[in-house]
Amino acid sequence: MSATPTRSQLSFTESVNYMADRAFKVLRIDEGIANAIKACSATLEVNFPVEINGEVQVFTGWRSVHSTHRLPAKGGIRFATIVDQDEVEALAALMTYKCAIVDVPFGGSKGGLLIDPSQYSRDDMQKITRRFARELVRKGFLSPATNVPAPDMGTGEREMAWIADAYKHLHPEDVNYSGCVTGKPVAHGGIRGRTEATGRGVVYVMREFFRHDDCVAQAGFKGGLGGKSVIFQGLGNVGFHAASILEEEDGCLITGLIERDGALVNPKGLSITRVREHILEHGTIKGFPDAEFIADGKSVFTMACDILVPAALEAQITAENAHDIKARLIVEAANGPVTFEADEILRERGVTVLPDAYVNAGGVTVSYFEWVRNLAHIRFGRMERRYDEMRGAHLLQAIQTMTDNPIPDWIQRELVQGADELDLVRSGLDDTMRLAFQQIKEAYDSYDEVSDFRTAGYVVAIDKITRSYVDIGVY
Ligand code: GLU
Repeated sequence: MSATPTRSQLSFTESVNYMADRAFKVLRIDEGIANAIKACSATLEVNFPVEINGEVQVFTGWRSVHSTHRLPAKGGIRFATIVDQDEVEALAALMTYKCAIVDVPFGGSKGGLLIDPSQYSRDDMQKITRRFARELVRKGFLSPATNVPAPDMGTGEREMAWIADAYKHLHPEDVNYSGCVTGKPVAHGGIRGRTEATGRGVVYVMREFFRHDDCVAQAGFKGGLGGKSVIFQGLGNVGFHAASILEEEDGCLITGLIERDGALVNPKGLSITRVREHILEHGTIKGFPDAEFIADGKSVFTMACDILVPAALEAQITAENAHDIKARLIVEAANGPVTFEADEILRERGVTVLPDAYVNAGGVTVSYFEWVRNLAHIRFGRMERRYDEMRGAHLLQAIQTMTDNPIPDWIQRELVQGADELDLVRSGLDDTMRLAFQQIKEAYDSYDEVSDFRTAGYVVAIDKITRSYVDIGVY
């Protein structure tokens, strides 16, 4: 097992491994097995040319497979200028732990393409994405059975549709071709509720945390989620959905928003929808009325609030600012926003951290539902919805006839409403996030050495993965 680091700057992969090591120690896992679990199985680097405006440009991309104890290996593909091999490998490792925590039967993988998408036209992006997908397919790093990408930073349903189509052209005989990637548009085999899934999952995690009085008291809170002040970093796909649901459904006050170009602060709460509209219109948060603009956005990390939700990049809470964080609860919606060194400081200070590998697992959970839907070739709810509605109507009639009592309108509506795909996806996501929290809490409560939710999360994941390694054996 690795010794505690003395260097102040660990790589992302080292940071993830050190966090995992705490759990290997708690579980007293044999060092050989621990090394086998931590090791990255394979990383493919591709360099491919694409002609852009008559000029040939060479692009570099990676797809890393961290584990194959379950197949397919699963994880997003990001398009960004900060991608490198270490980042992709660290994120692939996080996918392994993530899938195990939420009982999604996949291995861990991640991909990245070094590119600034804002510099290319839609047509160019299509050419580049399709070419990258062909490289991955030809080298055995993309197929419904072995390796299934999804959206991540800088990618969305548009890119996933191109990837699925590129795979289909190479494998027209594969009846399950649409399961080669998740996060597709609904019209191309996607599932309702996938786009919002990671953000909504973050909210389900927070609701579940606030259902446990002992957790709430230990974090130094009173009462429920309603009325709590929350500072967000990032209003991308994850941050936007999480923040707007918290604001609109849970009565939280989003008192701060940190973005690339500064931060917005309003102690009475920001309207997230209006901020988003402003960003879409002006390309910046600057000039947003009803909030104070702070040019040094990162300084807002240490402003007073109840809950801090980093929903953007890795390594945002570091040894530099961890001492000054005022929030009592950090909810890691991004992957790796807290470095290992910062995590040690926060543990010491008794700040509760709900870890990335659990908090943002809603995305891959709904990806799993999408993949199952693709293999089943049928939308969830298609067979039973009308039947359930008919039974509900009969039940209502029977109750009304027998009791002669009018049933309130809302109960009538609920009873005669069959679940559609979105209802089922949200129900499955909620159930998954709640169950995972309960497992993490059980680990937290049952091991004396475990005093934080991150280690508890890793204990849950590593316990399941180890069992699968031991059962199958290493050949
Ligand atoms: N990119 C997302 C993540 O980091 C989703 C992965 C997936 O759905 O496969 O979890």
